[in-house]
Amino acid sequence: MYALGRWWGVLVYLIVGRPTMLVDTGPAGHAPKILDAVLRAGVDPAGIERIVLTHYDYDHSGSAADLALQLNAPVAVHAADAPLLARPAASPGLRRWLYHPPIPRLLRWTPLTPDETLEDGDALGGWRVMHTPGHTPGSLSLLRGETCIVGDALVYGNGRLRQNVAHLAMDLDVQRASARRLARSGAQVVLPGHYAPCTDPAAMRGLRRTLGV
Ligand SMILES: [Zn+2]
Repeated sequence: MYALGRWWGVLVYLIVGRPTMLVDTGPAGHAPKILDAVLRAGVDPAGIERIVLTHYDYDHSGSAADLALQLNAPVAVHAADAPLLARPAASPGLRRWLYHPPIPRLLRWTPLTPDETLEDGDALGGWRVMHTPGHTPGSLSLLRGETCIVGDALVYGNGRLRQNVAHLAMDLDVQRASARRLARSGAQVVLPGHYAPCTDPAAMRGLRRTLGV
Protein backbone atom coordinates (compact mmCIF):
# COMPACT_ATOMS: atom_id res chain seq x y z
CA MET A 1 0.00 0.00 0.00
CA TYR A 2 1.01 3.60 -0.48
CA ALA A 3 0.66 6.92 1.27
CA LEU A 4 0.02 8.80 -1.98
CA GLY A 5 0.52 12.24 -0.58
CA ARG A 6 -0.74 14.82 1.83
CA TRP A 7 -3.05 17.58 0.77
CA TRP A 8 -4.00 20.26 3.29
CA GLY A 9 -2.32 17.97 5.77
CA VAL A 10 -4.61 15.04 4.95
CA LEU A 11 -2.99 11.75 3.98
CA VAL A 12 -4.51 9.78 1.12
CA TYR A 13 -3.77 6.06 1.07
CA LEU A 14 -3.87 3.59 -1.79
CA ILE A 15 -4.32 -0.09 -1.00
CA VAL A 16 -3.35 -2.31 -3.89
CA GLY A 17 -4.75 -5.81 -3.99
CA ARG A 18 -8.14 -7.36 -3.70
CA PRO A 19 -9.82 -4.94 -3.59
CA THR A 20 -7.73 -1.99 -4.74
CA MET A 21 -9.03 1.00 -2.79
CA LEU A 22 -8.37 4.64 -2.13
CA VAL A 23 -8.76 5.57 1.51
CA ASP A 24 -9.74 9.24 1.96
CA THR A 25 -9.52 11.83 -0.75
CA GLY A 26 -8.28 15.10 0.72
CA PRO A 27 -10.18 18.35 0.30
CA ALA A 28 -12.17 19.37 -2.77
CA GLY A 29 -10.35 20.01 -6.03
CA HIS A 30 -7.55 17.50 -5.54
CA ALA A 31 -8.70 14.64 -7.77
CA PRO A 32 -6.15 15.37 -10.56
CA LYS A 33 -3.26 15.46 -8.09
CA ILE A 34 -4.38 12.22 -6.46
CA LEU A 35 -4.71 10.49 -9.82
CA ASP A 36 -1.21 11.73 -10.77
CA ALA A 37 0.08 10.23 -7.53
CA VAL A 38 -1.64 6.91 -8.31
CA LEU A 39 0.11 6.84 -11.69
CA ARG A 40 3.43 7.76 -10.11
CA ALA A 41 2.99 4.78 -7.80
CA GLY A 42 2.81 2.63 -10.93
CA VAL A 43 -0.84 1.73 -10.40
CA ASP A 44 -3.51 1.93 -13.10
CA PRO A 45 -6.29 4.17 -11.72
CA ALA A 46 -8.81 2.07 -13.68
CA GLY A 47 -8.09 -0.74 -11.22
CA ILE A 48 -9.38 1.24 -8.22
CA GLU A 49 -12.54 -0.53 -7.16
CA ARG A 50 -13.70 1.50 -4.20
CA ILE A 51 -13.18 4.79 -2.38
CA VAL A 52 -13.42 4.38 1.38
CA LEU A 53 -13.81 7.44 3.59
CA THR A 54 -12.66 7.13 7.20
CA HIS A 55 -15.26 9.78 8.07
CA TYR A 56 -17.31 12.52 6.48
CA ASP A 57 -15.17 15.57 7.32
CA TYR A 58 -14.60 17.80 4.31
CA ASP A 59 -10.83 17.58 4.44
CA HIS A 60 -11.14 13.79 3.94
CA SER A 61 -14.16 13.58 1.65
CA GLY A 62 -13.80 16.69 -0.52
CA SER A 63 -12.52 15.03 -3.68
CA ALA A 64 -14.56 11.84 -3.31
CA ALA A 65 -17.33 12.85 -5.72
CA ASP A 66 -14.88 13.86 -8.48
CA LEU A 67 -12.81 10.71 -8.03
CA ALA A 68 -15.90 8.48 -7.98
CA LEU A 69 -17.00 10.00 -11.26
CA GLN A 70 -13.62 9.68 -12.93
CA LEU A 71 -12.90 6.18 -11.64
CA ASN A 72 -16.46 4.91 -11.84
CA ALA A 73 -15.90 3.57 -8.32
CA PRO A 74 -18.36 3.51 -5.43
CA VAL A 75 -17.86 5.65 -2.33
CA ALA A 76 -18.14 3.79 0.96
CA VAL A 77 -18.50 5.29 4.41
CA HIS A 78 -19.65 3.96 7.76
CA ALA A 79 -23.43 3.88 8.06
CA ALA A 80 -23.42 6.38 10.93
CA ASP A 81 -21.58 9.01 8.86
CA ALA A 82 -23.56 8.44 5.66
CA PRO A 83 -26.42 10.83 6.58
CA LEU A 84 -23.91 13.50 7.61
CA LEU A 85 -21.95 13.19 4.38
CA ALA A 86 -25.22 13.79 2.56
CA ARG A 87 -26.49 16.48 4.92
CA PRO A 88 -23.70 17.85 7.12
CA ALA A 89 -25.86 20.63 8.52
CA ALA A 90 -27.42 17.88 10.64
CA SER A 91 -24.11 17.44 12.50
CA PRO A 92 -24.76 17.45 16.22
CA GLY A 93 -23.20 19.72 18.85
CA LEU A 94 -20.42 22.16 18.06
CA ARG A 95 -19.67 20.28 14.87
CA ARG A 96 -22.62 21.86 13.13
CA TRP A 97 -20.68 25.15 13.11
CA LEU A 98 -18.01 23.43 11.04
CA TYR A 99 -20.72 22.89 8.44
CA HIS A 100 -22.46 26.23 8.72
CA PRO A 101 -23.22 26.96 5.04
CA PRO A 102 -20.54 29.57 4.24
CA ILE A 103 -17.73 27.22 5.29
CA PRO A 104 -18.44 24.29 2.93
CA ARG A 105 -19.08 26.85 0.17
CA LEU A 106 -15.75 28.49 0.83
CA LEU A 107 -14.07 25.08 0.63
CA ARG A 108 -16.05 24.11 -2.48
CA TRP A 109 -17.28 21.07 -0.57
CA THR A 110 -20.49 19.52 -1.77
CA PRO A 111 -22.58 16.95 0.10
CA LEU A 112 -22.48 13.44 -1.25
CA THR A 113 -24.75 10.42 -0.94
CA PRO A 114 -22.45 7.42 -0.56
CA ASP A 115 -22.95 4.34 -2.72
CA GLU A 116 -22.18 1.88 0.07
CA THR A 117 -22.32 1.88 3.83
CA LEU A 118 -19.98 -0.11 6.04
CA GLU A 119 -20.43 -1.60 9.50
CA ASP A 120 -18.09 -2.84 12.19
CA GLY A 121 -16.72 -6.26 11.23
CA ASP A 122 -17.23 -5.89 7.48
CA ALA A 123 -14.39 -7.35 5.44
CA LEU A 124 -12.83 -5.54 2.50
CA GLY A 125 -10.51 -8.22 1.20
CA GLY A 126 -8.10 -8.84 4.05
CA TRP A 127 -9.01 -5.58 5.77
CA ARG A 128 -11.51 -5.53 8.59
CA VAL A 129 -13.68 -2.51 9.23
CA MET A 130 -13.61 -1.27 12.82
CA HIS A 131 -16.19 1.27 13.91
CA THR A 132 -14.12 3.75 15.92
CA PRO A 133 -16.54 6.62 16.62
CA GLY A 134 -16.05 9.70 18.75
CA HIS A 135 -14.43 12.17 16.36
CA THR A 136 -17.55 11.64 14.24
CA PRO A 137 -20.36 9.12 14.82
CA GLY A 138 -19.26 6.95 11.92
CA SER A 139 -15.47 7.23 12.06
CA LEU A 140 -13.99 3.95 10.89
CA SER A 141 -10.60 2.28 10.91
CA LEU A 142 -9.30 -0.48 8.67
CA LEU A 143 -7.20 -3.21 10.25
CA ARG A 144 -5.15 -5.84 8.53
CA GLY A 145 -2.68 -7.79 10.64
CA GLU A 146 -0.55 -5.23 12.44
CA THR A 147 -1.42 -2.35 10.11
CA CYS A 148 -4.28 -0.02 10.89
CA ILE A 149 -5.60 2.99 8.99
CA VAL A 150 -7.25 5.07 11.69
CA GLY A 151 -8.50 8.28 10.06
CA ASP A 152 -8.83 10.92 12.76
CA ALA A 153 -9.49 8.44 15.59
CA LEU A 154 -5.81 8.84 16.51
CA VAL A 155 -3.29 11.58 15.83
CA TYR A 156 0.47 11.13 15.48
CA GLY A 157 2.87 13.99 16.08
CA ASN A 158 6.12 14.71 17.91
CA GLY A 159 6.67 10.98 18.21
CA ARG A 160 3.45 10.48 20.14
CA LEU A 161 0.21 8.73 19.31
CA ARG A 162 -2.82 10.19 21.03
CA GLN A 163 -6.55 10.68 20.80
CA ASN A 164 -7.75 13.51 18.61
CA VAL A 165 -8.40 16.91 20.17
CA ALA A 166 -11.40 17.29 22.43
CA HIS A 167 -13.01 20.28 20.73
CA LEU A 168 -13.55 18.35 17.49
CA ALA A 169 -14.88 15.26 19.24
CA MET A 170 -18.54 14.56 18.91
CA ASP A 171 -18.32 12.57 22.10
CA LEU A 172 -15.13 12.50 24.13
CA ASP A 173 -15.95 9.34 26.11
CA VAL A 174 -16.78 7.48 22.93
CA GLN A 175 -13.61 8.80 21.31
CA ARG A 176 -11.57 7.54 24.26
CA ALA A 177 -13.23 4.11 24.07
CA SER A 178 -12.34 3.92 20.38
CA ALA A 179 -8.72 4.89 21.11
CA ARG A 180 -8.60 2.11 23.71
CA ARG A 181 -9.98 -0.38 21.22
CA LEU A 182 -7.33 0.65 18.67
CA ALA A 183 -4.61 0.41 21.32
CA ARG A 184 -5.71 -3.16 21.99
CA SER A 185 -6.09 -4.10 18.32
CA GLY A 186 -2.56 -5.40 17.89
CA ALA A 187 -1.76 -2.63 15.39
CA GLN A 188 1.92 -1.70 15.26
CA VAL A 189 1.87 0.38 12.09
CA VAL A 190 -0.68 3.15 12.54
CA LEU A 191 -1.71 5.17 9.51
CA PRO A 192 -3.54 8.29 10.63
CA GLY A 193 -5.42 10.82 8.57
CA HIS A 194 -2.99 13.64 9.24
CA TYR A 195 0.72 14.47 9.40
CA ALA A 196 2.57 11.15 8.98
CA PRO A 197 2.33 7.37 9.25
CA CYS A 198 3.53 5.94 12.55
CA THR A 199 5.82 2.92 12.38
CA ASP A 200 7.38 3.41 15.81
CA PRO A 201 6.32 0.67 18.25
CA ALA A 202 7.29 2.95 21.14
CA ALA A 203 4.49 5.33 20.12
CA MET A 204 1.91 2.55 20.39
CA ARG A 205 3.34 1.51 23.75
CA GLY A 206 3.03 5.14 24.88
CA LEU A 207 -0.60 5.27 23.78
CA ARG A 208 -1.37 2.07 25.65
CA ARG A 209 0.30 3.46 28.76
CA THR A 210 -1.63 6.74 28.54
CA LEU A 211 -4.93 4.91 28.14
CA GLY A 212 -4.13 2.31 30.77
CA VAL A 213 -4.60 -0.51 28.29
ZN1 LIG B 1 -11.80 14.74 10.92
